[in-house]
Amino acid sequence: NAYKAMHLAQKSGYNNYQFFVHEDDKIHDRKIKIEHGLKKALHNNEFELYYQPQVHLKSKRIVGVEALLRWKHPELGTISPYEFIPVAETTGMIIPIGKWVIQEACKQIKLWQSIGIRIKIAANVSALQFEDQQFIELIDETLSQNLLPSKYLELEITESVMQKINQSFAIISKLKNIGIKVSIDDFGTGYSSLSVLSSLPIDVIKIDKSFVQKMMTNANTASLVKTIIEMGSNLNFGLIAEGIETEEQANFLMQNGCQLGQGFLYSPPVTKEEIEKLLHKENVI
Ligand code: C2E
Ligand code: MG
Ligand code: MG
Ligand code: MG
Repeated sequence: NAYKAMHLAQKSGYNNYQFFVHEDDKIHDRKIKIEHGLKKALHNNEFELYYQPQVHLKSKRIVGVEALLRWKHPELGTISPYEFIPVAETTGMIIPIGKWVIQEACKQIKLWQSIGIRIKIAANVSALQFEDQQFIELIDETLSQNLLPSKYLELEITESVMQKINQSFAIISKLKNIGIKVSIDDFGTGYSSLSVLSSLPIDVIKIDKSFVQKMMTNANTASLVKTIIEMGSNLNFGLIAEGIETEEQANFLMQNGCQLGQGFLYSPPVTKEEIEKLLHKENVI
């Protein structure tokens, strides 16, 4: 590594390669720490679910929450899922971690119900986890252990699972039989075709936040968002926009037929205590 860095440094004309060696080692170090740390994180209770409200744009009432995983590393501090989920996927740790997420979400729904809060949780599921043999069993068992009606749990998958169309069709159909709704997360960023989309028993399309963030300043993105909403409605999908940060964005979405959304405008993902306060304030029934 040091040799490679030195070589790179020389090639790019720097006579001081110290910086490169140093930075390279640091990145490598962090990767190793994350990889090793992930193996112990579950056991050491280092994960926590945060919750972001999903709201009815017009009334601003909370219709559900999305569970977003947080990892508090003892040495590195809070690490973003954008950084550790890919590592969990390549090491296979995503299976036990994903299982924990489902179990934790279901326990939370149950707990909330016991204090009069009836709200659904949308949990993110990695493609690897989704294709795991035991996945349906896990969902089925966790729901029945907690005596939960399936309508309180929703699953978010990304377009990558749509590549294995036959396998995905079977899994989504089974989920559908149990009564679980499935959303396509980050819609529009992958390579799924319209024909694939319309042939899968998916319930909800989540418009990716990159589009929401660009649509007020970029005419092409605005058309794209309008088209997704129109197509989604015609195909009878539910629609929800993510990453809403301004009233202007919310208005644009409403005017074009998207009624649900989430984003910093309403609330960032927060701890369960904080989301409880928000839910209590609203008296969710
Ligand atoms: P995602 O499921 O598409 O979640 C949306 C991300 O956008 C979240 O990032 C959220 O905090 C962020 N976000 C929400 N509102 C806004 C906004 O108004 N503006 C901006 N700029 N960002 C906003 P987060 O929590 O860092 O999660 C990142 C990704 O990590 C998620 O994207 C999801 O793909 C993945 N992830 C999170 N939790 C889990 C999990 O339990 N399992 C799996 N497999 N993946 C997860
Ligand atoms: Mg999501
Ligand atoms: Mg998303
Ligand atoms: Mg996204």
